[in-house]
Amino acid sequence: MITIVLGIFFGLYGVVIGSFLNVLILRLPIKENITMKRSHCMTCGHALSWYELIPLFSYLFLGGKCRHCKAHISAQYPIIEGANGLIYVSIFLAKGITVETFLYCLCASALLALSVIEWRTQEIPLGFNIFILILGLVRLVTDLGNWSQYVIGLFAVSVFLLLINFVTKGRGIGHGDIKLMAATGLLMGWKRIIVAFIMACIIGTVIHLIRMAVEKAGRKLALGPYLSMGIFIAMIWGEQLVSWYL
Ligand SMILES: [Zn+2]
Repeated sequence: MITIVLGIFFGLYGVVIGSFLNVLILRLPIKENITMKRSHCMTCGHALSWYELIPLFSYLFLGGKCRHCKAHISAQYPIIEGANGLIYVSIFLAKGITVETFLYCLCASALLALSVIEWRTQEIPLGFNIFILILGLVRLVTDLGNWSQYVIGLFAVSVFLLLINFVTKGRGIGHGDIKLMAATGLLMGWKRIIVAFIMACIIGTVIHLIRMAVEKAGRKLALGPYLSMGIFIAMIWGEQLVSWYL
């Protein structure tokens, strides 16, 4: 019973944070102020009132259209909100009420936002990696007995990617991706970040091959979304995957 109540709480909290992620996704790439300006219709500029700002429900209630100009509202809003809610529920179900749960939820939200931004702009804003690095430092301080796990995690995958970056003269992997794997490595420890990277390689290869076959996608690909999926899998099933392998 308590699990269901807490699960619903995590889901709703995730949806609310998800609506903030939508603001970040839209405004960060165009350098629009993320706090000062009131949320508005992207077509007519009509400022949204409180009942048009309720995550998920407003979109359904308004039928996906602006109340003022009837322009279609991007399905990105409910998708990001719903996805972030599901992410929070699954992390809670996997980890319970722990320090890890809160840190992983915040990290997963950053991953969701940076994935969409990198998918569109080919760049991960530095702020996301700094944010995840801070989460990693909090993890280190709250679990000092295992400090070496986290410190090795900081370098485990990132140094390898740095070497690839060096050998390919920067064409293989971007700096944003390397920093992402360093920051999440500090947060998760070296075993999980290696699991995350292997998963990302598998998912990335499969999806990219499908995309090349289906839509003739170019060779240039944003790695952030694949790395993020791998990291998320390692957050939920990292321990099981490591012990299964060993
Ligand atoms: Zn409008």
